[in-house]
Formats: sequence, structure tokens, C-alpha cells
Amino acid sequence: MNQIRMIAEEMIRSRFAVALTGAGISTASGIPDFRGPSGIWKTFDPSLFHISYFMKDPMSSWKLFVEKMYDTIKKAKPNISHYALSRLEEMGVIKGVITQNIDDLHRKANTKEVIELHGNINFSICTQCGRRFNIEESIKEVRANRVPLCPYCGGLIKPDVVFFGEPLNDETLRRAYDFASKSDLFLVLGSSLSVSPANQLPIVAKSNGAKLIIINAGPTEFDPYADIRVEGRVEEVFPRICKLVEEMIASKSGICDYD
Ligand code: NAD
Repeated sequence: MNQIRMIAEEMIRSRFAVALTGAGISTASGIPDFRGPSGIWKTFDPSLFHISYFMKDPMSSWKLFVEKMYDTIKKAKPNISHYALSRLEEMGVIKGVITQNIDDLHRKANTKEVIELHGNINFSICTQCGRRFNIEESIKEVRANRVPLCPYCGGLIKPDVVFFGEPLNDETLRRAYDFASKSDLFLVLGSSLSVSPANQLPIVAKSNGAKLIIINAGPTEFDPYADIRVEGRVEEVFPRICKLVEEMIASKSGICDYD
């Protein structure tokens, strides 16, 4: 039996399937990943996305964020894989998506249960009082060469995304662990699984009895633990799985229309 059919059958059999997505699911939307063959890290030093660099030189850090992430992400649209996940959620097969991405593309594709481990591109936050803002207000300040400051307490505002060296939001992480430990099928799509603590989630799932499926172009840190490992581009592999799942569910609502 081929891997596509095996995964589709596991999905049909599952009662609580969860997906963990990484930057690889969004490269087909034109957003480069960090560590892939055309990753952002080929062109600049990753330590520039460290919180200590932000606190030392917020203006340069903001400008880099706008240039390397914001301007690209704001233009991007969900691709076939984001829609396939959303369709699987609608069919009741996937119970939720945990993502390391900040690009908001799962929500744009209409997935309802999205846990964003590393924040969301649409918001900024005051490093002093914790108030959140629409990031566009902060970006306007940056483009005018002013460091965004909190109108309430005067604190420094940063993008509300997790920089290297920063902890994840406790409640978000708790929900992600809860989803992972409840899952009986845990799918990893487009992640090198090299960022902690996100990369612990497949292990949490697996140690609670879930089957682990990894679909990625290139190796991941946890390939040896996978029950099924597919080497390939998510946007080529995953929609075929979704289509087969839909056909197997005896097509109450028709065939996937993004073929
Ligand atoms: P990563 O860059 O470490 O790994 C991405 C993996 O996806 C690589 O192994 C790469 O070979 C693979 N890949 C690339 N395109 C693919 C495709 N079309 N199909 C299948 N696999 C593909 O990214 P990560 O593991 O997600 O984690 C790194 C961090 O990068 C995360 O913290 C995330 O917040 C951040 N990030 C997010 C975005 C985004 O929001 N879209 C973009 C870049 C980085």
C-alpha cells in the first residue's frame, strides 16, 4: 500500500487527529522558511531575531522584521495545503492545527482551531505593560523612522511574535500540550522540528500513544520516531491525502475542489 493511502486510512481511523505546521507549509505561499534550501538564514544572521538584539537596538530590529518578514507575509495568501487542513477540520477529521508560523494563513484559510505558538504577524505588544496593538500602527512609526512606543506607559513596543530567547505564552503552550497529549494521530507538515519547545509536541503525542506522521522536504530531528515519514513538498503530497480521505468518507459533501 502506498504512503498516501496509508496516511488517509490512519486519518479515517483516528478519533483526535492534530497537525503541527512549520514554515515549510507556507513556502508555497511565497514566504521563505528559515532553514530550508532557500531559507532566510542563507542571507542573514539568525541572532538578529534574538530578543537581546531587539532590546539593544529596537529600530534596526524592527526594520529587519519589516523587511524580512512583514512585507512578505502581508502579501501572502493561503495555499492548497492550508485549505486542505481547513477542509479536514470541517469534515471533523482534524481537531486542530498547532502552528509555529506567524503568518496567519491557517485562519485566512478558515481553520477554526488554530494554536499559534509563536504569535501572529498582525499584532504588536508593549514590552512594559503588555498591551497589544494592531501592528500597522507600529509599522507606520517604523516607516517614519520612529521607534514605536506605548501610548499608555511609554514602554517599547515589539512585534507580538516570539523572538529567539523569549519564552512562549504559558496558556498557548498549555493548550498545545493538551492537544498533543489527547491526539491519537499527530501530523507534522513542513517543519525541521529543530525549534524547542514546539519540537517536543510530537514526542508528547507519541508517548501518549499517538501515531506520528511527518511530511517534510528534507530531514527532521524526529524522523526516527515517525510511524510514517514522507519525503516531499507538503503542497504536492497533502492535498492528495485530503482528497482520498474525502473520497473514503463516501463523499457526503462532494469531492475536494482544489484538485
Ligand atoms: P524551518 O525553517 O526550521 O523548517 C522548515 C522545514 O520545511 C525545512 O525542513 C524545509 O526543508 C521544509 N520545507 C520547506 N518548504 C517545504 C515544502 N514546500 N514542503 C515540505 N517541506 C518544506 O521552520 P520551522 O521548523 O517552522 O521553525 C522555524 C521557525 O521559523 C518557527 O519558529 C517559525 O515561527 C519561524 N518562521 C515562520 C514563518 C512563517 O510564519 N511562515 C516563516 C519563516 C520562519
